[in-house]
Amino acid sequence: MRVRSWSATGSGKGNEDLAASGDRWAVVLDGAGPPAGMDVGCEHGAAWVVARLGAHLRERLDLGLAPAEALRESIGRTVADHGPACDTAHPRAIGATAAVVRVAGADVEWLVVGDAAVVIERSSGGVAVTTDDRLARLPDPPSDEAGVRTYVARYRNRPGGFWVAGAVPEAADHALTGRLPRTEVRRVLLCTNGVTRLVERYGYAWADLVRIASTGRGPAALVDAVRGAECTDPEVRSGRRHDDATAVLVEFGD
Ligand SMILES: [Zn+2]
Repeated sequence: MRVRSWSATGSGKGNEDLAASGDRWAVVLDGAGPPAGMDVGCEHGAAWVVARLGAHLRERLDLGLAPAEALRESIGRTVADHGPACDTAHPRAIGATAAVVRVAGADVEWLVVGDAAVVIERSSGGVAVTTDDRLARLPDPPSDEAGVRTYVARYRNRPGGFWVAGAVPEAADHALTGRLPRTEVRRVLLCTNGVTRLVERYGYAWADLVRIASTGRGPAALVDAVRGAECTDPEVRSGRRHDDATAVLVEFGD
């Protein structure tokens, strides 16, 4: 399999996304820290958590673990990396969205948790997408911080709610997963929400994303498309932030 990836920092100081790959797997992660100024009892930032998760995933996936198993163990190891002074049980503990793909024997299997996406281009030509919109589908989203606190306590990393990879290993068991024979898969695109906004906000089709990422510039061309669309978006022009944007394209076959 051939892998190309690109990750671009948004308006923030550092990139809290990460792309990684090995001989038989690829991953994207997108860190989600607490709101600015909120003390969650941890001296680490989202970029640190993403780097630890990424390093542990690399190790586990290189060993041949299945995506959910690799993610569960990687979350547990990341929790241990924090050290005794960190409150990793805080309801707003730093988390990350994750998308993972790997070759397992004659199959390709994948996993998504949080608002990342896995886009599968079938050998027959169609496109199948796995996205995790459980957060967006929850009822009565809160409008103030008091409401958010209640909401997070009730739904974040809770059965029936939504899951993030970071401090709760069980999140891996609630990830969305899929599997197809490798002969039926031509390409797989993993992307963070900085790239999926091309579909969600700017009217692109998922098949467009795979097509753009497959051109000579590879996934970097997707980030160019995002920044181009954002430049004509009145909300972004009036100060809304650019998000970190990351994509990995895995191509099979000849
Ligand atoms: Zn910490």
